[in-house]
Amino acid sequence: MPAVLRVALPVPLPSLFDYLPPAAGEARVGSRLQVPFGRHRLVGVVVAIEAEAAVDGGRLKQALRLLDDDALLDAELMQTLAWAADYWLGAPGEAYANALPLALREAKPLPPIGDEYWSLTGAGQSAHDAGSRRGGSKALLALLAGGALGAQELGERQPGWREAARRLAAAGLLERSERPPPDRRLPPSLAPPLNDEQQQAVAAVGASFGRYHPFLLDGVTGSGKTEVYLALIEQVLARGQQALLLVPEIGLAPQTVRRLRERLGVSVEVLHSNLSEGDRARAWLRARAGSARVILGTRSAVFTPLPQAGLIIVDEEHDSAYKQQEGFRYHARDLALVRARALGVPVLLGSGTPSLESLANAEAGRYRTLHLRARPGAVRPPQVQIIDMRAQRLEHGMSPALLAAVAETVARGEQALVFRNRRGYAPVLLCHACGWHAACPRCERPLTLHAGRRQLICHHCDFRQRVPAACPACGAGDLKAQGQGTERLEEALLAQFPQVPVLRVDRETTRRRDSFEQLLATLGDEQPAILVGTQMLAKGHDLPNLTMVTIVGVDEGLHSIDFRAGERLAQLVVQVAGRAGRARKPGRVLLQTHQPEHPLLRSLLAHGYAAAARELLAERRLIRLPPYSHQVLLRAEAPQRELVEAFLAAANAALPPDDRLQVAGPMPAPMPLRAGRHRGQLLLEAASRQALHAMLRPWQVALGALPAARKVRWSLDVDPIDL
Ligand code: ADP
Ligand code: ZN
Ligand code: ZN
Repeated sequence: MPAVLRVALPVPLPSLFDYLPPAAGEARVGSRLQVPFGRHRLVGVVVAIEAEAAVDGGRLKQALRLLDDDALLDAELMQTLAWAADYWLGAPGEAYANALPLALREAKPLPPIGDEYWSLTGAGQSAHDAGSRRGGSKALLALLAGGALGAQELGERQPGWREAARRLAAAGLLERSERPPPDRRLPPSLAPPLNDEQQQAVAAVGASFGRYHPFLLDGVTGSGKTEVYLALIEQVLARGQQALLLVPEIGLAPQTVRRLRERLGVSVEVLHSNLSEGDRARAWLRARAGSARVILGTRSAVFTPLPQAGLIIVDEEHDSAYKQQEGFRYHARDLALVRARALGVPVLLGSGTPSLESLANAEAGRYRTLHLRARPGAVRPPQVQIIDMRAQRLEHGMSPALLAAVAETVARGEQALVFRNRRGYAPVLLCHACGWHAACPRCERPLTLHAGRRQLICHHCDFRQRVPAACPACGAGDLKAQGQGTERLEEALLAQFPQVPVLRVDRETTRRRDSFEQLLATLGDEQPAILVGTQMLAKGHDLPNLTMVTIVGVDEGLHSIDFRAGERLAQLVVQVAGRAGRARKPGRVLLQTHQPEHPLLRSLLAHGYAAAARELLAERRLIRLPPYSHQVLLRAEAPQRELVEAFLAAANAALPPDDRLQVAGPMPAPMPLRAGRHRGQLLLEAASRQALHAMLRPWQVALGALPAARKVRWSLDVDPIDL
């Protein structure tokens, strides 16, 4: 009997598929294979080699072609992926599809991974000196005039450089080489001497090299966490091993990449979603080959092969960007822990506002907490005050006290940040005559007014329409913008402070990848300025002259029905407040609210994040919410509400009788209608993860077989982070 190859295919089905070996080559576990599938050809990964087929062997098809003689995915990744698919209820093939860069999921040989460096020829140097070229070519010549650069760095500094490079190379102005010219390896720049707490953190993690140990590095922004990462990565490199550093968003990366490169003096592989597929595949392969020593990346970089792993770091571990919210709904932080265990290396979770999950793990003794309490650069932590908005005359949502504080700040030549987590001009457009408001026809939620574009935009489904001149219901011309978004605050602040630059930072003003950094770079370190913006301003770029932060309204966060809203609000307030007074100047934070007595705000202000988090955790324990219980959410949506209801009722009936399981629903989703589709959900909860997981796979299979399932779009979310 010939061996049978059990293959994971990129299809949303919860099974593996058996094939007979291809005519040529010897497949291994972890090799890619091209196989016939229906009328298509797919590329899959060999998960197991069995002596016998799961189905009648006579009906098996033969695989078409073996793509790798050696396993592309090593045993550790194969094992971790199988675990992940099982835990997050992914189709096995989906987990592999997430792990492999797109270019490696095609039936092509692996691209060469040799590094690629470009430099000026003599003629190129002359052309640069003469300034004889234009546009992209001119920019590329200028970039290379400083010395040879690798393809990756070129991609970061000049998107679209390849076209110019091709032209210039054809004209004999550039040349390409496989290895870095000797002068490119910069000597590492000097690290500041670490303070006691930093040294203790480095020593603690360093003492665990070579075995699994999770650490929580608890220190606010500016407390020196990155210096701890750098010191540890240096040690990892000295041991001849690889380090993986995960960051939540690419917006954070440019500054971090520069710092890593300068400090470590080695090339740093950057893996993120803006990379071209070819570059992404090459970076992945360099990590697999062990030639990439330091890998910096966002969520999906957690799947990078690490044959010589030394350390995994997850920065800003509380950030929800680590959870994938569609398809294969894994959590990169949690997966980082699983990988660290499988690889036998320490894992360091860093945050100034750790997630309640991580705090609970630390409390239970599963993680060791390392504290950074001193802020090396700053004079002292910012002073936080509440402004009671009730019964105040507000100027576009801003109280006199807030405006006075901004005025004082800019008068001193310093910078103020006005934070509002809402884009657009106003969240509601209202008719003063009849009470009509503009709502999205597909979501039944208010449309946000974007005044500059003269559009009403749905922030849930991106529906857009022109702003009506008169009320469509009664014809009155008296339409009023209600509430404030960043655009309106920008306008109001410009009017109030005509002599000061006002800079708005939100998704509208920072569409391009580096535009956030570029915007901030226009601010001089010594000039006064006012920054208005959303969550994007909570992190990134260091602004030494920023001394005041005002938060315009936090009340939405206090009212939300999501049990995580309190945690998120506390994290956001601390992160935003942390922008003030990072350098030698002391900082001040003003928080405007209609609920100055709210217990969460009071404990946050009086005792800080750790105390507020302790209270939130105590509450969760009392009412048995995560992390003290485990949840799985079944979501369903369809054009008709009845279809959703029928499916969820059938799903509910298909649950095994088990008194360890609590069921909430079926019920409408928090947004019952979105983009014209009705949405509902069923929430399962259990104190025991084993009890929950034991029933999930069979239930998932049963759901797939329900006739009602064919008429809805449904998904299961294990450990959902938004309900
Ligand atoms: P975090 O990552 O926690 O935000 P960083 O590591 O970026 O903090 O440190 C904040 C600032 O303080 C940086 O400019 C850094 O260079 C500086 N810094 C960190 N540790 C020290 C130290 N021990 N001595 C002097 N400066 C330090
Ligand atoms: Zn009207
Ligand atoms: Zn909508």
